[in-house]
Amino acid sequence: MPELPEVETIRRSLAPLVEGRRITALEIRDPRWCAPLAPEEIADAVVGRTIEALSRRGKWLVYELEGEVFLITHLRMTGAFLYDADDDAPYERVRIGLSDGHELRFCDPRRFGTGELAFGAPALDDFFASRVGLEPLGDDLNGAVLHALTRGSRAPIKAFLLDQKRVAGVGNIYADEALFRAQIHPLRRAGTLTRAQTETLAGTVRDALTAGLAAGGATIDDFRHPDGVSGAFQNEFLVHRREGEDCPRCGGEIVKFVAAGRGTYVCERCQPRPRGVRRPSRAPRGARSGQP
Ligand SMILES: [Zn+2]
Repeated sequence: MPELPEVETIRRSLAPLVEGRRITALEIRDPRWCAPLAPEEIADAVVGRTIEALSRRGKWLVYELEGEVFLITHLRMTGAFLYDADDDAPYERVRIGLSDGHELRFCDPRRFGTGELAFGAPALDDFFASRVGLEPLGDDLNGAVLHALTRGSRAPIKAFLLDQKRVAGVGNIYADEALFRAQIHPLRRAGTLTRAQTETLAGTVRDALTAGLAAGGATIDDFRHPDGVSGAFQNEFLVHRREGEDCPRCGGEIVKFVAAGRGTYVCERCQPRPRGVRRPSRAPRGARSGQP
């Protein structure tokens, strides 16, 4: 599933190709993409309008159109925007024609990706107010803020980080990588982190995301850049998907278990298990890390 660095990678490569272009056609081949809106409602709202900006909030990509019309899209598990793809692009759900003659296609094998509309900036703000929390790549997320947010929380810190309403865009890969870098066990209760640990963790969340961004995202499952190129961050994971390998810090064994419903990778020498928490049963070898 694309996480924040993957979505931001897409945004950065797509923005110069679409900004300033007018949408000349919108063909929705799979009405489930925009349900409950009808495909004609989306087309009526966006066709003829210029894309002023392509922005991102959490893992949503927002086509900001002239007249404060916003087309809000989410890639979910397997969605990808492809620029000038071959005519037989598989799993095509949406096709967008641009005024410079180029075409954008939304391809999505598992069909969980979505398209929605907001009219006016207040409606856009309302849309995100109930869905996404702090933006971790900006200045919003710092140790003091994370410390305040976690007070009173009995949730394991990994589950806390995965909650999009708390911190936007951090998924399974980057939660594992950030917690390892901060030497914090994923099952540690969020509310018990010290002020110093929240400071460290705010920094390592940003570090892990920034490293992912620098590598063009991680290519796992179906993630693709709009030009079909793949990201390389999967080659730089410190612990994620490295079960049985040596910890890059201490040489101990990286183990995998299930936490927050997700395949979770730790070095329990570097990330001491909290007192009173039993070692979770290890996930079966070969289980997908993206398991629900
Ligand atoms: Zn270690």
